[in-house]
Amino acid sequence: MVVLSFVFLLCIFDSSLTISQSLNDVIFNNGYEFFDLSHPFDKDTVYWPETQVFNFTKKIENNGINGTWYAANDFAAGEHGGTHIDAPYHFHKEGLHVGEIPLEKLIVTLIIVDVSSIANNDPNFVLHKHHLDNVLYFDLNKPSVVIFKFGWSKYFNDRKKYLGLNEYDNTLNFPGLSEGVAEWITTTYKTVVGIGVDVASVDTGSSKTFPVHKATSKAGLYNLENVNLNQQIPDTGCTALVMPMKIALGTGAPLRLVAICPKQTPNKF
Ligand SMILES: [Zn+2]
Repeated sequence: MVVLSFVFLLCIFDSSLTISQSLNDVIFNNGYEFFDLSHPFDKDTVYWPETQVFNFTKKIENNGINGTWYAANDFAAGEHGGTHIDAPYHFHKEGLHVGEIPLEKLIVTLIIVDVSSIANNDPNFVLHKHHLDNVLYFDLNKPSVVIFKFGWSKYFNDRKKYLGLNEYDNTLNFPGLSEGVAEWITTTYKTVVGIGVDVASVDTGSSKTFPVHKATSKAGLYNLENVNLNQQIPDTGCTALVMPMKIALGTGAPLRLVAICPKQTPNKF
């Protein structure tokens, strides 16, 4: 009885407890738009070398008995190809598997850091902290995912160019983050739950030791790789829906990544 009265008093005096709008009321009021930040999964989807590529088998497609249409397919794929998530377990033995990442870390504030003009289409570009001195000082007071845009999504349909495949020495060459940036994010921004890139790895293509993967995994962050940024989307103000296939013991998984953003109002001047 005492507890009930206390709750009742709270309801009267704390207006923040009054829920006046459902999320539906907010996002379907014409003030928001949705962005699909995933590349499609098909025969052209880019996979990491020596990984099972997306194998799509049309199994049944017919009008069957009594003209009832029926279609069903099989697919097989590696975890780390196309737009996908890396679970912390990928590079840290005690880290979470994909199926263990809580929703509180998957529905989060989205921040896009556009470094494409600095990277300037250079496949050997490495993002260092000094490149971000005037960029990454957001007020990150909510769980957030920070996605770095190198301007690489435009090459996704050309695997050789996208990965920077050098056939002579069998190396990969595409931009990525430095270990310093990873250490800085994981130690400075405690609300950042994951990082993402529009290239095939958060580490540079030429990396052999994967320091960024190690730093983020150890700190409990996930990585989003091959994010599709082939579109104009606001750098801030959006909410990310990070929805990987729920592979219980996955080290990674195909990802449907969606952003919900306030509609940009055209400038009147
Ligand atoms: Zn991966």
